[in-house]
Formats: sequence, structure tokens, C-alpha cells
Amino acid sequence: MYNLGDQTYLKQPKFMSLATVAALSERLKSYCKNAGIDYVQIVFHGGEPLLLSKEYFKLCINLFKDTSPEIEFGFTIQTNGVTMDKEWYDLFKAHDVKIGISIDGPKKYHDAFRVFHNGKGSYNQVAEAVKLGRGNGLSGILMVMNTNIPIQEFYKELKELKVGNLNLLFPDGHYDKLPEGFDAVRFGEDDYTPYADWLIGLFILWKGDKNRPVIRFFETLIEMIAGEENVGNQAFGKKKNGVVVIETDGGIEVVDSLRACYEGITRNNLNIHENEISDLFEDDIFEVYYNAHDMVCEQCLNCPVYDFCGGGFLGSRYANDNGFDNPTIYCKDIIRILSFIQNDILDSLPVEVTAKMEAEKLVYSELIQELKNPPLIEIESNVKQKLISFKQPAVLCT
Ligand code: SF4
Repeated sequence: MYNLGDQTYLKQPKFMSLATVAALSERLKSYCKNAGIDYVQIVFHGGEPLLLSKEYFKLCINLFKDTSPEIEFGFTIQTNGVTMDKEWYDLFKAHDVKIGISIDGPKKYHDAFRVFHNGKGSYNQVAEAVKLGRGNGLSGILMVMNTNIPIQEFYKELKELKVGNLNLLFPDGHYDKLPEGFDAVRFGEDDYTPYADWLIGLFILWKGDKNRPVIRFFETLIEMIAGEENVGNQAFGKKKNGVVVIETDGGIEVVDSLRACYEGITRNNLNIHENEISDLFEDDIFEVYYNAHDMVCEQCLNCPVYDFCGGGFLGSRYANDNGFDNPTIYCKDIIRILSFIQNDILDSLPVEVTAKMEAEKLVYSELIQELKNPPLIEIESNVKQKLISFKQPAVLCT
């Protein structure tokens, strides 16, 4: 994200002051009271949150709890793991903070992306932190998918690090900044699904492993296929996107990964020192993000797997010339992986069971063909206009 469309973070303070945390705690208290919310998840994210002191975290957590004892808080920290040691693990364990470490695969691949200022890769330190996390409270690791990593090598790495819980993310990107895993020449071909092909390889290894780790990406899809309600996230399903980002200066914003679209797209004039959290509902980009699985393009509205996909993550739908009025760049990959998993599940169940399920076998080529049929459902013109309104602001040359 920091290397894509937006550099506005450079103008912000490096750290959030405790005065800003206190202001946020007060705003949360009133927001939750008015909205009837009794659970809030706080995610310490960065940049790198462990650049702060241990004392800071203690004060911070206590501020939230003391300001609003009536709210149940779930705390999570997402770190690059470089400075994660036993003392940090003990501190987070004592305060019931879930810990996620970001790692990008085996050393060769991780070190290509995650480097120190001196250009050296951070793999060795991060792998040590992951190993230390076993039995010390590490909740899981987060990886961005990299289709260059041979799948056997990737799975071997998971086993060697003894990863118990993995979440996978599609790389940030959009139609005018395709992630590296896509070949720009082949992108758009009906049978071109590099991410799904990679995921299918992983799914087969994972399913055949008796001591398999939790892989949230697969489990979310399986839960949806099994008909569980209220399942999903910003990349899948039909749930509202209820994530708000508080910047170090107190800015109240939509999720920061949208900054991969263009400079300043997430910025507004809202700040926790002057505004209520609910003011964010007046922000156009937040409105679209919050309702992203309802505010979709016409192709998605007519898609046979819309209920599973929900149009994908908003940022990955972006194109300079028509904003968010597109399916996600991962559209075909999602159709392919979903079909594969659904068919695999149905094949592994007795006919008596599948007969009672609503799910039926999916044929990838037929689903792709259906997307080309004339739409039966028309997109509302105000939704379409809103989606398009985020197209790249024109640059005037004089
Ligand atoms: S699979 Fe493609 S067309 Fe269907 S909802 Fe997802 S992004 Fe839209």
C-alpha cells in the first residue's frame, strides 16, 4: 500500500499520542452507547506498532477499558515481528491481546519485499519470532499471496514454522496497477486465473494434511458454502464493512488499503479531537466501502456467485477511468476457486447429504458464460454514479 498510489502518510506524526487515544476512547464510548454496540475490536496496526514502548501499550489498553467498562474490547496487534521477543509475548498475553505476525513466505520471497533500511531482508528475525510464538500466544500469521512461490515450497515453509493459523490476502492492486501475479497480456482471458490455480494447489495439500493449520481463507469459503450466515469479510460475502481507521493524528478514515487507488482517496477533514465517529457516515468513500457488497457494478448484481463474492474487496475494483464500477480484478480467480472447493466438498459427501443441501456442482466455464449474458437486474443509476465518481481526478496541464 505504501508503495502504490498514496504518499500522504509522510505528512503524519509517526506515533499516536496518548491524548489522541484518550479522545478516541471518549468518542467510542458515546458512539457505542448511541449505536447500541457492546463489543469493539481494536487492532494496533502500522507502519509498525512495536516501535512504540511496552508502557505505551499498557496505558493505551487501560485507557480504553477505564473509559468504557461497559464495552467488551478485543485487542489485536499486527506486527512485522522483527522486534517480537519473549517480553512482548508476555506483555500481550497478560493483557489478552491477540498477536498476528506478517510474513511473506520462504526467505527468498519474504526478503524480496520486507527489507530494513539497509536493504537487508527481515526473514531471519521474523521466522525466529514466529517460532518463539509457539506456546507464547501467537494467534496466527498473515501472508500476502505470491504466486511465484512454488506451492510445495510454500506449504513446507508453513510446516517448518509450525504455523497453526494462517490468513491469506490477495495483493493490493487494481485495473491500472495489476499485482505482480498477473500477466498484463493475459489478464482478462476467460481461462486465466493464476491466483485460483495457486490456491487450488494449496487447498489440495492442505486438505490432504492430517495436521493441517487453520487457513482462514479456505475456512471462510467453506463456511459460506455450508450455508452459515453472517460469514464474510471485506473480500467475500455480503456483510457490511465495519472497519474504521484512526490515523496517528486522530484522523477518522475509511480502511487504509484503499490508498492503493490514488493519492488522497481516503482523506477527509474528520478528526477524533473534533468529530464524532458517526460523522464518518457522511464521508462518500466510507459510505461506498461500508456498503461495498451491496454497491456493486451491474455484472456483479447479475453474477451467479454474487452472494459468496459480494463483488470482492472495493480497492481491487478500481480503475482510473470508471472508479469502482467494476468487478474485482480477482473475479475469475474467485469463481474458479469457489467452484473447485464447492465441487470438492460435494464430491466428498454422501449423496443423501448433498441432496438436502442447497449447493450444487458448479462448472467454471458455464459461470463465466453467464456473466456475458444480457443483465436481468439493472444497476440503480445513483449507485452507478457514485461508484464512477471516484474515478481518477483529471490532471490539468497548462
Ligand atoms: S465473481 Fe466477479 S462478477 Fe461475480 S460478484 Fe464476484 S466480482 Fe462480481
